[in-house]
This record gives sequence, structure tokens and C-alpha cells, in this order.
Amino acid sequence: IPSEFLIASPILKKLNEAHFEAYFVGGSVRDTLLGQPIHDVDIATSAFPEEVKRIFTHTVDTGIQHGTVMILDHGEGYEITTFRTESGYTDFRRPDHVRFVRSLSEDLKRRDFTINALAMTREGEVIDLFDGLNDLNAGIIRAVGDPTERFGEDALRMMRALRFSAQLGFTIEEQTCHALATLVPNLEKIAVERIQVEFEKLMMGKNAAHAIELGITHQLFNYLPSNMRHWRLSIWQDIRHDLLENQPVTIAGIWSYLAVKSGENSHEVNTLLREWKLSRTIMRTTTAIVPVVYHIQAGIIKAWDLFQVADYQDTLLEVLALLPIRSAVIGEVKKILSDLPIKHANELTINGQDLMAHHIVPAGPQLGQMLRRITEQVVTGELINDRQVLMNYARRWRDEQN
Ligand code: ATP
Ligand code: MG
Repeated sequence: IPSEFLIASPILKKLNEAHFEAYFVGGSVRDTLLGQPIHDVDIATSAFPEEVKRIFTHTVDTGIQHGTVMILDHGEGYEITTFRTESGYTDFRRPDHVRFVRSLSEDLKRRDFTINALAMTREGEVIDLFDGLNDLNAGIIRAVGDPTERFGEDALRMMRALRFSAQLGFTIEEQTCHALATLVPNLEKIAVERIQVEFEKLMMGKNAAHAIELGITHQLFNYLPSNMRHWRLSIWQDIRHDLLENQPVTIAGIWSYLAVKSGENSHEVNTLLREWKLSRTIMRTTTAIVPVVYHIQAGIIKAWDLFQVADYQDTLLEVLALLPIRSAVIGEVKKILSDLPIKHANELTINGQDLMAHHIVPAGPQLGQMLRRITEQVVTGELINDRQVLMNYARRWRDEQN
């Protein structure tokens, strides 16, 4: 039993003492049995939300309409979810109704895959109603119940099947795979935000290449958000090949890498990121990095380019490592980055105030132009970053202009 479960076990005990059932469920049980680190401890109980709230003093209604109450315990938060069934899947996505129930088996039955439908008591006993342990040992992703029905209820499960195969290196069981091949167009109906989470986890998985191959085989990429669905097949084949060796480790890395692979111009890249509803931070990082990577791929390595992405250099290096770029080239990029005389414009020994105070340039567009020029000269090593040198340069430049 992992320490995370031991720490949370008083919570289960408290529910048990109030005559309710309580179990660890979901990904944390699966990962524990695989001997992998766990992220979040999910707890399921026969107690209804109001009953949970009566048992514990500090609770937060994080998702009470779905049966989830958060318990605050010594600074830790635990999500406790009432056993539930789901029904009325219109539109091939999320259920219209959830119904709270007292039976664990009803709750496990609504879960997506057998390996995700295991429960564990606080003593470490595993409850395995769907042969999930066998599938876990054999490395198989198998839908709970009839796969066509299950994917028909919620199309996101197909994306999740690929995501788990990427993370765990598991194969998708034949019937489950067959249902996926048939129903994959339903992915079009899923909200971008939900697909995004699973797609990003897929890209970061150790076996991402295998999952991309499954996606190619079953034409899954034709149903993803944005203009990505019109990408040539060869782009995905290249991606599969790149990901065999290593995988992105950050969200910004994923999207910068994909944007580069798209081969699109900055306008199209912007559209891609907007349609995937990515955050402003990711958009800023990606749109800065992509043109620089294009330059590097074309054999142009400029200090000025690298200066402009100095804030994002970890992401840049992450992307370069994924691409088929010679290590000597990456070495050169790293050297230029570490040798940059300055990494930010604010490291210059003069600023706009100085230029105005000494009546070299008045406020206005000329000022910005001159600062940019000076920054460029310092970054490329033409000028040293010395106050007197820069002031003299500015004066000379102004005199030449007049
Ligand atoms: P991770 O380690 O990435 O969090 P996880 O298995 O915990 O993986 P979650 O998305 O956190 O995945 O979901 C928790 C559990 O809820 C799953 O293990 C599964 O039992 C159930 N579940 C989640 N999404 C679905 C879905 N779309 N359909 C059916 N069951 C689901
Ligand atoms: Mg989880």
C-alpha cells in the first residue's frame, strides 16, 4: 500500500465507522498495482454528498452536483465521490443525468476500461469485478462491457484508449479496437477542452509513437479540433517517427513541436492554437519559437533570433531535441544562447530615459527604433554593453541621420 493511501486511510475509516463503504478507485489504484507513482487519490463511497458533509468538518463542494465533495485533512484535499450511475448520453458525450447509488458494482460498471474499474479497500484488498487485474498484467486496454455501447455513450473514451496506450504501452483489445475504428468520427462532437487534456497526455506518453500509429490506422486525426484534421498523413508519420526516441515534457513543448511539424506560417499557427483553446502563455511561447525553429532547420542560427526567444529557451531546446536536427547544430544553439551578452533588453546599460534626458532622441517612434538598433548591436557583439560606448554610438547615429 503506497504512502499516499496510508495517509488518506483515516478518511476511509471514518466513512466505514459511519457504516458506509469507501474505496480507493480509478487511476491511483491502477498505478499502484503497476508500481508507478500516483498523482491524485480518488475515493468513492456509498455515502451521499450530504452524508459525507455531515461526517467531516471541513468540506468544500467542488462538484457536488456530480457527487464530489472535497475533504480538507491536515492541509491535504481529497475528492470523495458518491457511487453513481450515468444515463442519457445525448450527443455522444457527457451524461445528462447522474444518479447516486449505494452499490460499488454500479459505480465500477460506468467506468471506461477494466484497468480503471478496480477498487481497493484501506487494507489493500483489491475488488476486481471486470477482470481488470488480468488485463493489467497482460497490458490490455479493454472497455468495461460492450465497447460499441461505451464509446457510443462518450466518444472521449476513444481518445482515452489511445492516451492510456501511450502512457502504459498497452495494446487495445480487439473488440474495443473494432468499436473505436467504427465510432471514431464521433470524436468531432467532443468539447475541445476535454480532448485537449487527453491528447496532451498522449503526446507525453513513453509510447506516444505507438498511439500515434493507432491514430493513423484508425484515421482518428481527421476528427480532432482545428485545421489539424486537414494535415497530410505524412506529417503524422513524421511525428510518429520523432516520438519513437523521446517525447515532449511540457505543454508548451507539445504545441510548439506540433506547430513546427505543421509547417504553417504564423497566421495559421495562431489559428491552430486558438481553435485548440490554448492559453495566452502557450500561444505567446509557441508563436515566438516556431519561426526561430524554421530558421534553425534551414541552417540559419542567429544570435538575434535566439535573443528574442531567450525567455523560452527551455521550450526551444525541448522542441529541437524532438526534431531530426543534428546534435552539432543543437550544440551551436546552446553555445550562442549561453554566450549571449544580454538576455533581456533591460540588461542594457542605457535605457530610453537616458537617451531622452541627454537630448539624443525625443520620445516617439525614433526612440524605439534606436533602442532596438542598440540592442541588436549588443546582442550580436558589435558593441560592448558599456554605458559610455552606447551613448556615443547613439549620438553618432543621430548625427548621421540629420
Ligand atoms: P490519471 O492518472 O491520468 O489521472 P485516471 O485513470 O485517474 O488517470 P481520470 O481522468 O483522472 O483518469 O479519471 C479517473 C477515473 O474516472 C478513471 O480511472 C475512470 O475510472 C473514470 N473515468 C474518467 N473519465 C471517464 C470517462 N470518460 N468514461 C468513463 N469513466 C471515466
Ligand atoms: Mg486521475
